[in-house]
Amino acid sequence: MVKFSFSVPQPNTQYIHIEATIPVKEEQTTIHLPAWRPGRYELGNFAKNVWNFKVTDVNQNGLEFQKINKDTWEVETSGSKEILVSYNYYASELNAGSTFADKDQLYVNPVNCCVFTKETFNDPVEITLDISDKWEVATSLESKDGKCYAENTEELLDSPFIASGMLQRESYESHGVTFHVWFNGIVKPDWERLIKDFQAFTDSQIAKFAEFPVKEYHYLNQILPYKAYHGVEHTKSTVIALGPSYEVFGSLYKELLGVSSHELYHTWNVKTIRPAEMMPYDFTKENYSPLGYLCEGVTTYMGDLFLHKSGVFNLEQYLDEMNTQLQRHFDNQGRFHYSVAESSFDTWLDGYVAGAPGRKVSIYTEGCLLAFITDVKLLEATKNKYGLDEVMKRLFFQFGLEGKGVSEADYKAMVESVGKFSFDEIFNDYIHGTKPFESLLTYCFDYVGLELQHQPEESYAAGRLGFKYLNSSRGGAIIKAMYPGGPAELGGLMLDDEIVAVNGLEVKNNVNEWFKYLDDEQKEVTVFRGGKLLTFTLPEVNRYFYNKYSVKPVKDPNGPQKAGMKAWAN
Ligand SMILES: [Zn+2]
Repeated sequence: MVKFSFSVPQPNTQYIHIEATIPVKEEQTTIHLPAWRPGRYELGNFAKNVWNFKVTDVNQNGLEFQKINKDTWEVETSGSKEILVSYNYYASELNAGSTFADKDQLYVNPVNCCVFTKETFNDPVEITLDISDKWEVATSLESKDGKCYAENTEELLDSPFIASGMLQRESYESHGVTFHVWFNGIVKPDWERLIKDFQAFTDSQIAKFAEFPVKEYHYLNQILPYKAYHGVEHTKSTVIALGPSYEVFGSLYKELLGVSSHELYHTWNVKTIRPAEMMPYDFTKENYSPLGYLCEGVTTYMGDLFLHKSGVFNLEQYLDEMNTQLQRHFDNQGRFHYSVAESSFDTWLDGYVAGAPGRKVSIYTEGCLLAFITDVKLLEATKNKYGLDEVMKRLFFQFGLEGKGVSEADYKAMVESVGKFSFDEIFNDYIHGTKPFESLLTYCFDYVGLELQHQPEESYAAGRLGFKYLNSSRGGAIIKAMYPGGPAELGGLMLDDEIVAVNGLEVKNNVNEWFKYLDDEQKEVTVFRGGKLLTFTLPEVNRYFYNKYSVKPVKDPNGPQKAGMKAWAN
């Protein structure tokens, strides 16, 4: 058995002291710390937080070891049956995927900070926490007599825990599964409202899949006093970081529902229906996959759609979420240059930052819209009998529960077998290609009685001059995005230029008002760029930029549209 112990000797230093006792058989063993965490497909390089790494035998005699790469150590075991690995982990970051310690809590995501050897990866794991006896532990791990247990290292790495004196919990049942909702931090939960809504979307998701992959599930909510919005999926739990506290059951409540429904859907899609390239996970390096449009795209689409299907969101509330995705799609010029499949592969490079302007797209946004298109195309092809739900259900039973990874070819074949139609065009032109899909979206919205509309952007700077900006501390306007072919770009302005005057008039948090006022005049823009003051003349371009997109129900839906809507939203 592998044994871990966690203690925080001096909470204000934020170092967690970790000891791992690991059985060994050979003269030499290799110790790994994960380089990334599932759910975030980029390197996390967690070893940067490891300090004072030591290896001894059980009698505390030091053993020789050598670090052979950033997160791998080779140890001479000198005939020992067990080795003791001890180190301190700096735990100062608090988000849904991190590890954090202070005087109020010990929050551990084991994939950040637990070492392992390949020989003992399948051995059971025992975890001891040296914490105040007034604290509780929120986790999906089995807990008994003050210790926690994982079946093996894979379960350990997938099972975060929060030990704290501020935990609150309620539970509900759905289809024979117990769901625990935990809150840590400053928060006053409206339990009645929450349980009613969670019950509804949980019932609805499980009903579509026919069964839930695990027997018990935990929502671990980290409520923060400041602005936060982040969720990470695990097989038997999710961690959600949300704040500020006072908005969680106010303006952020729909975000709490949205992220919770999304993470629940991941229990099937990604934790059980997993890309073949990640079966099993290789924690030591990048696991490249083009399937981000399935993992995150379908989950983004279904997470929100299930809130509508279950009656938690009305159509208008659901379409608000869809409109956000549509706007992101149309605002991103990267859609003309890089496919969603290529962007998925590249999450390992820069998937979670804006990156080079116009280089790539979001697997969440493009994947969500393509999932909608696929859903409607399936409904159309099967006379409203089957949608994307059916594809996911079959992938769950035929791949997920069988322990088989899903390849792109498997996904495509499953769509084709449910719909009895060719998925070639969508797959080649839109998933692997960069062909614009506005007309296809319009067609699919029309099928369910919705209408895609667009209106000019109200901001003069964005709508007429083709740039977006942020006000600087001295009242200037810093250019943050430019539309290709817009006056700002054609006139020679650069990203991060700070506009300080327009036609010789000083800008004081009013660049938009001045531009609008000077609408019929030639516009000379004075900017600070890298410490230099420069002036540019913007050319006239007679068109609109950054149009506002939204989708609305058509006024008088016809019979087929009513039937389409009914099939889609149920
Ligand atoms: Zn997700």
